[in-house]
Amino acid sequence: MSIKGYSRAMLEVISGHMALKWQRRPSGLYCFNYHRIGRAADSEFDPNVFSCSEERFAQHLAFYKQEFDVVSIEDLIRLQSENRKIKERLALITFDDGYIDNYLIAYPILKAAGVFASFFVSTDYIDKPEIPWWDEVGWIVRHAGARSIQLPHWPQPINVAHGSISARVRRLLKAVKQDNSLVMSEKLAQLKRLLQLENVSMPKSTELFMNWAQLKEMADHGMHIGSHTLSHNILSHLTAQQQLVELTQSKQRLDTMLERPAISLAYPVGGHNSFTPETQRLVQQAGYQLAFSFVSGINRELNVSNCFQLRRFPIEEESSVWRLKQMVNRRFDLWAVN
Ligand SMILES: [Zn+2]
Repeated sequence: MSIKGYSRAMLEVISGHMALKWQRRPSGLYCFNYHRIGRAADSEFDPNVFSCSEERFAQHLAFYKQEFDVVSIEDLIRLQSENRKIKERLALITFDDGYIDNYLIAYPILKAAGVFASFFVSTDYIDKPEIPWWDEVGWIVRHAGARSIQLPHWPQPINVAHGSISARVRRLLKAVKQDNSLVMSEKLAQLKRLLQLENVSMPKSTELFMNWAQLKEMADHGMHIGSHTLSHNILSHLTAQQQLVELTQSKQRLDTMLERPAISLAYPVGGHNSFTPETQRLVQQAGYQLAFSFVSGINRELNVSNCFQLRRFPIEEESSVWRLKQMVNRRFDLWAVN
């Protein structure tokens, strides 16, 4: 018997190696980041922001509890003050963007498991709930009146009818992101015109994101609420003054509405290019104590040099526990572990 050309003996060697490597994973802080929990197929919008189903999320939590010391942001602040190498294997669970399913689905599961997760919200989306541009592109692809679209800046027509809904949305989003000639609202109007959707009205969803009462309830029950800026703009694309507005005004809003200081932040998009050393200085100046990127990896220590660029593992596409282990295993060298 074989799977994809591997003999059974070969598969046993591979899985034995993987298990050994997992057992020898280094000490450090492992952050696992989610966006939406639920069924992408039931959504009208971007399917690619769904991390996993409700059932899978519960499995992940059981796995984290078994394999790590699951900590809260407050635990990390205490650890930070000790200024030492992390000796334990710690796990932190985070959520970006503030979608409503975080409250309706994830929060009850977290509560039942006794785990305190952290939720990073863009306060403009809480204050005036609108559909973000990536979700609007998701809706456009689902309702397109044509099979393909020719965008002026793109070399060939983009097929929006072929493949899975995830692949179709990803294909169009890639082209939309790379058009520097128009602002986002113009890009969306262009897509609707070219895909014959000008007269079709998109649902004005006011329930895509959590509201302040829900966030307050979660904060009062031990969940941590942090900033994901005001508008979810990429900070490195803004001037220092604009970045400070994003950082300080979102913090003030959270401080006031949740009646406790917001001390943590997650950078929108979060890759290497989405924030700079200057951004990190501004984050500190605005009064935050920790900031999270979306760069994958293990945080071996927690100190002044890395506390404004903590790494996080992305949870995507209904990852099984086996795939989570694989993802972590890829980030360290078995033979270099202490
Ligand atoms: Zn985000």
